[in-house]
Amino acid sequence: MRRFFSTFYLLVILILTCQYSEVTAKEFISSASVTNASGKLIFSKDGIKIETDGIAPESDSKSEAVWSIKIQNLSDNSSEIIFSERDNKPVISSSENGFVLSYNDLIFNGKRWDIDLNLIFSNHGEAFSVKGEIKNNVQGWVVVGFTGPVISGIKAELASYPLIMPCGLGQKFTKAPSSKDSINKVSFKGGLAWTYDRANSSFYLKSDYPSRFATMQWCAFAGEKGGLYYGSHDKRHGSKHFKISYKSSDNTLGVAFEHDLVCAPGAKWLIPEQIIYPYKGTWHKGADLYREWFKTSVAFQQIPEWLKNSSGWMLTIMKQQNNEVMWNYADLQGLADISLERGLDIIGLFGWTKGGHDKFYPYYEPDPDMGGKEELEKVLKEIKKKGVRSIIYANGQLIDQNGTDYWEKEGKRISVLKRDGKVDYQKWHKYYDAPARFHGMACLGCNEWYDIMLNLALQANELGADGILYDQLAVTAPKFCYSPDHGHAVPAVVYAEDRYLFLRKISEYMKTINKDFVVMTEGLNDVEMESISMFHGYENGAYVPLIEEFSARLNGSAPTFIFPEMFKYTFPEMITTTRNPAPVNNRLILNYATVYGLRSELETRYAADVRYLKENRIPVPEDYSNVISKPNIDLVTSEDPVAMKIYTREVIDFQRENSGLLWRGVYNDDKDFSIKCNPDAVIAKSFISGNRFGVVVWNTGKGKESFEVNVPGYILEYATEPGRGTVCVSEKLSAESIRLLVWKKDNK
Ligand SMILES: [Zn+2]
Repeated sequence: MRRFFSTFYLLVILILTCQYSEVTAKEFISSASVTNASGKLIFSKDGIKIETDGIAPESDSKSEAVWSIKIQNLSDNSSEIIFSERDNKPVISSSENGFVLSYNDLIFNGKRWDIDLNLIFSNHGEAFSVKGEIKNNVQGWVVVGFTGPVISGIKAELASYPLIMPCGLGQKFTKAPSSKDSINKVSFKGGLAWTYDRANSSFYLKSDYPSRFATMQWCAFAGEKGGLYYGSHDKRHGSKHFKISYKSSDNTLGVAFEHDLVCAPGAKWLIPEQIIYPYKGTWHKGADLYREWFKTSVAFQQIPEWLKNSSGWMLTIMKQQNNEVMWNYADLQGLADISLERGLDIIGLFGWTKGGHDKFYPYYEPDPDMGGKEELEKVLKEIKKKGVRSIIYANGQLIDQNGTDYWEKEGKRISVLKRDGKVDYQKWHKYYDAPARFHGMACLGCNEWYDIMLNLALQANELGADGILYDQLAVTAPKFCYSPDHGHAVPAVVYAEDRYLFLRKISEYMKTINKDFVVMTEGLNDVEMESISMFHGYENGAYVPLIEEFSARLNGSAPTFIFPEMFKYTFPEMITTTRNPAPVNNRLILNYATVYGLRSELETRYAADVRYLKENRIPVPEDYSNVISKPNIDLVTSEDPVAMKIYTREVIDFQRENSGLLWRGVYNDDKDFSIKCNPDAVIAKSFISGNRFGVVVWNTGKGKESFEVNVPGYILEYATEPGRGTVCVSEKLSAESIRLLVWKKDNK
């Protein structure tokens, strides 16, 4: 008996000693690293350091916090505490493929809280991966934010390692902000601008994913021969914010994601995989990596053939908010002809209901005064015979707070509730002679909202339309909802996963009813490509910049500019229209759309637009006297209506004749060919389709330009231009013109 006890005690002592020494050993390690072909990532008390051979940028954090965690008090939803890596020391242990940082009971102001954090650093091929987990055991508090891993002290001159951001179709930054030239505004629509943070004496850029300001989860400091990729491989495509910082004191940059999340007491939250990749090559390497990963998280949908072969749409507001009717149902016959004259083969029906545009949502019924349901069905059938498809409008998120019984009955209850207990809303006031409309923002995960929206798709299909547009659903950033009545936890992150699942459910259901029926939305983001067949562009890059802005990009004088290459190359299958809220295009818009493989848009919104389309009458400012937010009439007054109608038709016919490359081919950017030209005026982009290789050359300048294209391994077949057919390849390219050179693979 005694012998047994002594053995037992000895064992206990041994186990305790082992545990003790193991802990001591772990605490003894104050730094750890992962090494691979791209370089070395080191964690130490100073933060994260990345070493490379100098081709990709290096970083040295110099005491920047690697992570922070935000918690919120559940009783009042207002008190917040932010834990920082600077106040917490990890236990570092090695793992199979790297190392792990373990933090137990996070410290804030000297007090311990029952929250644990693990961060796992490892190799992911040539890249570094960081994953982890947050465990919350604090009663009455919810974790709502995680920032990290923060990579700072990046030694990348933007002139040689421009920052490419997925703002809209893409934005590039080639010059750092300074107190003299802070770049706190950009002239092009929907672009990001730097903000100065006085407290930290630094500049920063922030953009929200998924929204039109961040359409993908990756960015890069992209030099000509190498760069640094920073991408979240988050399969849930959750709400997150890019935070790019710039310190002029030591001329360094930083990058991080701030994640929105909800981790309730007793729950865990998995930190999505963060990839940090110091790569060799061009930025396409980052795009290829993101695309490869993306295909494991989202299935690309089957896009109906008719839409693949479609040129774009005429957005038509039939009845405005002040009840002014621009087009009755029977008038759509004439509108179809007007659209076809310009090459457009879809009509988007906005304001087609009794209430008119942006009024009485979510009630969408045919208006007896505009011709009634039968007339609408009849005309949609007739225009389809002419080759014109139709898309019917519904707003995907707005509920009018006045004018219907829906708001009190259901609308108010299913609207997003903000932290202050107030309903989230948007105000739309379009005319002096009609009151402003206040719309609640529907919480998209509510079954009631799904039923209404699905019924609208079914109604559109029954009316004979070819699809539905749920307006605005790829525009805004995710948010928190605090309503206890929506069947989700409180709080919950909404307009994120709930939004794409909502669209997925509707589009999958509609495919079982009519496989050719399409779902559209406004804005852009990558995850919604699984359900959205065509985006109604509303973001940077879908808005075409002015020629001065585009020229400033080509001649290198712009510190930041649109970079549509980024999204288009990553996802060549994405179909979007350009955005042009006018009844006329110009050569710039049409040439740009062709070079980047985008579909076209014209808009008829006001009575003056109708007269412009029907009578070529150029509007004057007085035409918009009752409109609150006046349209910019520079474009419409600067073009010859007849000449531009002809050029629009010629360019769209040209795109259609070459649609195998330009619409259905793979956008290949500036890869696999070379061009000798005047780079201040000429830009060229390539498309691949089977054994054909197309290069669209665009002369943006005011004079004729000569150029020479070389495609190794291919034989030139022909060159063609809009309205001219086949042309001589060596002929100079006229001002503001495009030419397509088609090459065939040399099989010798
Ligand atoms: Zn909600």
